[in-house]
Amino acid sequence: MSTLQRMIDRAEDRWPEAPGAVPDDTLGQVLLASHLLGSDRAVANFGGGNTSAKGTATDHVGREQRVMWVKGSGSDLATMEREHFTPLRLEETLPLFEREEMSDEDMVAHLARCQTDPAAPRASIETLLHAFVPADHVHHTHPDAINVLAGTKDGERLVRECFGHEAAWIPYIRPGFTLARQVGEAVRTNPALRLVVLAKHGLVVWGGTAEEAYRRTLDTAPRAPAPSRTRTSGPRCCARSSRRSAAPCRASGRRCSSSTRRRACSSSSARATRRS
Ligand SMILES: [Zn+2]
Repeated sequence: MSTLQRMIDRAEDRWPEAPGAVPDDTLGQVLLASHLLGSDRAVANFGGGNTSAKGTATDHVGREQRVMWVKGSGSDLATMEREHFTPLRLEETLPLFEREEMSDEDMVAHLARCQTDPAAPRASIETLLHAFVPADHVHHTHPDAINVLAGTKDGERLVRECFGHEAAWIPYIRPGFTLARQVGEAVRTNPALRLVVLAKHGLVVWGGTAEEAYRRTLDTAPRAPAPSRTRTSGPRCCARSSRRSAAPCRASGRRCSSSTRRRACSSSSARATRRS
């Protein structure tokens, strides 16, 4: 008998259906996805997570080249604008995957030279994670529902139980070159993979379009069940959603409001594992 209980709401799918509501350009599409992810704080905490898109852009002397726009440091998914993305030349960024290691200082210095716009925000420490995943759209968030698992001692087994071989588990390592390379290696060597869970950290998904990657985050979080036996004080119930839970709180038997959930029901492990 599983010790897990599937009792987590699906986040509301806010991808617009109206004609013309989705921008035509790649940067506009990743910006839209960023706002939608950031609009649900159970999916993307303030200042946390980052999004990216790969596409073609014309540089300052008229050359067309492959670039990656990735959320830069210092902005929030919910409120960021186009200028908060860092545009990087992929031709100069992707060869780093061949390296075995790289210090933070060297990585930051290299990425600064890859920017097509020197005035753009500084590339974040998680930039290469996006570059090394071979998909046009990559979304990295810290959803509460995922971090309930990612912060648990038995997280690897729980992730395997929830997602089977669609998920890769990366043991905790602080963000930087090595983590980015491990994620890239996992995705590149396993075409069946659909998500990566970073221990004590968060979630990485990808897709051919911004819409696909956005929906994969939504699809993933509700499949992550709340462990029914964890060492946390206070009552336990579902770990996410701003809406009322469809399932009653395990301790009280009542359906709890979001404020109640935040105060008493959310997992301490989820809070403890939030990283940028
Ligand atoms: Zn992160």
